[in-house]
Amino acid sequence: MARDRLLGYSQDLYVENARSASRAEAELFHEPGYLDLVKRFSATGAGLLDGGDTPAFRGCYEASLSVVGATLRAVELLLEGKYAHAASFAGGLHHASRGSASGFCIMNDCAVALALLRKLFSKVAYVDLDAHHGDGVMYGFYSDPGVVCVDVHQDGKTLFPGTGSHLEAGSGEAKGTKLNIPLPPGSADDVFVSLFSELAVPFLEEAKPEFIIVQCGADGLKGDPLAGLSFTQHGYLKVIEMVHEISHRICGGRLVLVGGGGYNPEAAAECWAGEYMVLSGRAPMCASNPSTSLPSVMRKAESVRSAIRESHPSFSG
Ligand SMILES: [Zn+2]
Ligand SMILES: [Zn+2]
Repeated sequence: MARDRLLGYSQDLYVENARSASRAEAELFHEPGYLDLVKRFSATGAGLLDGGDTPAFRGCYEASLSVVGATLRAVELLLEGKYAHAASFAGGLHHASRGSASGFCIMNDCAVALALLRKLFSKVAYVDLDAHHGDGVMYGFYSDPGVVCVDVHQDGKTLFPGTGSHLEAGSGEAKGTKLNIPLPPGSADDVFVSLFSELAVPFLEEAKPEFIIVQCGADGLKGDPLAGLSFTQHGYLKVIEMVHEISHRICGGRLVLVGGGGYNPEAAAECWAGEYMVLSGRAPMCASNPSTSLPSVMRKAESVRSAIRESHPSFSG
């Protein structure tokens, strides 16, 4: 749906065929025993791959390898210098961990792509805009200082998977390389855009990654049936504009977008198409006016901002 919208908006966008990831590529992140389990479940198409959210289906092993392959292809196209930017909207399956499925995610394409990029670059960044915390990616690289993570999400005390406190900043020599920005339910564009620009932008600028992957989960949009944030497309486009600008300033525009959640499919597709158009440098065709947070939400967001400034290693000095 996002692709169809994009092709209607612009003549100079190209749709490339995806490819399947190889087993060896999936193993850059996932444990072989877990991949064997997915393969077994995939043959019968029955059963659950985790505690309850992620059912197997017939062919889910091959389908998951295709999603991973699509994201890897997007990364490769940039590395080959064929395009300025690329997107893989089927990807963004950020909850899967090294050894388990979680939250509708069987294989973690973002994490596999980051693992691949880590072979080429000493520092890469992962920015996660999904309403849910990108736990599979963050904990997958929690002690790796070469993977800088910024994760803006609805406060884990109020939403799956429950993690992503501002105190989680990485471990060992990676301490300070992960930045969680947990937002109170009801947070609107004003909170989203201002906290991103005041916290995430300087954090990324200081980290100077050589490649940036953005998980564009659109379930932060107001009215999403699973989450409780109140963003509009306007907020997402503003944030993508900032990341796009940073990518050109610090890493030669090496920026790939992937999808993620978004349980109002029309709204998610529209949002993703708009975000990709931002990368083409054209004025985003944004239908929405910025949404504003209630004063009580604003106050809670204010305290998140101060807590991060006071406690996060990259702000507290
Ligand atoms: Zn989500
Ligand atoms: Zn660009």
